[in-house]
Amino acid sequence: MSSPFSPWNPWHGCAKISPGCRHCYVYRQDEMYGSEIGSEVARKTQAFDMPVKRGRDKKYKIPSGSLVYTCFTSDFLLEDADEWRPDCWAMIRERSDCMFFFFTKRIQRFMECVPDDWGDGYDNVMVGCTAENQAMADQRLPIFLDVPIKHKSIIVAPMLGRMDISAYLGDAIDEVSCGGESGRGARPLDYEWVLNLREQCVAARVSFNFHQTGAKLIKDGRQYYIRRCFQHSQAKKAGIDYRVGKNGRPLKGEVEIPFEG
Ligand code: SF4
Repeated sequence: MSSPFSPWNPWHGCAKISPGCRHCYVYRQDEMYGSEIGSEVARKTQAFDMPVKRGRDKKYKIPSGSLVYTCFTSDFLLEDADEWRPDCWAMIRERSDCMFFFFTKRIQRFMECVPDDWGDGYDNVMVGCTAENQAMADQRLPIFLDVPIKHKSIIVAPMLGRMDISAYLGDAIDEVSCGGESGRGARPLDYEWVLNLREQCVAARVSFNFHQTGAKLIKDGRQYYIRRCFQHSQAKKAGIDYRVGKNGRPLKGEVEIPFEG
């Protein structure tokens, strides 16, 4: 049975730093809701201490065993959040009964952002390193492989071109998750790139997840427009996810991750 999941966005807003940021969904959402503060300005949210908040019954509001999607409206390793992050680590430590998952385009900052007792990594922290094209993969993934993290995923989203990441795949990587771009002006995703990436994962026996198609999917040379509400389900319908269990045998469909592109 899969774990319950909870979002936790301790801060909101982020500075764009790479090609994958061009149509960042944080900016798109802020524009849609007419936010008066610029999306590039990070600010603490009211949910900052959500993991340790308790209800009237004195129980934590986030149930034990949850998968906590952390900082999905920013980047957990953002420079502007350096002052706030130590409190987040303390909450993550306190909630060792939950698994926290964040992804980042700033993996080069990882070692300066971890707490003193990080050691080989906390058991309850999963980190996804985003690599949206070959250049970003070659820049970030060697660093990602080097840093001490117990659970590592590679996030290829929004996938912007054909990529070869086979040199970075191996036992250290739990999963590769791939998806296209959503929103106005979305750049197209060629299904052939996705299948090729999947082949690299199968060859390396690393789990692969096609989490969403994006708004424009090219298949057999033809471009299809896919409405936002179907982008996740259409990717799942493709039936190309590949799961490798702890005993090395492929499993089918486990955790589904609500990524945006
Ligand atoms: S939240 Fe992610 S995609 Fe958006 S600007 Fe920050 S790093 Fe880029």
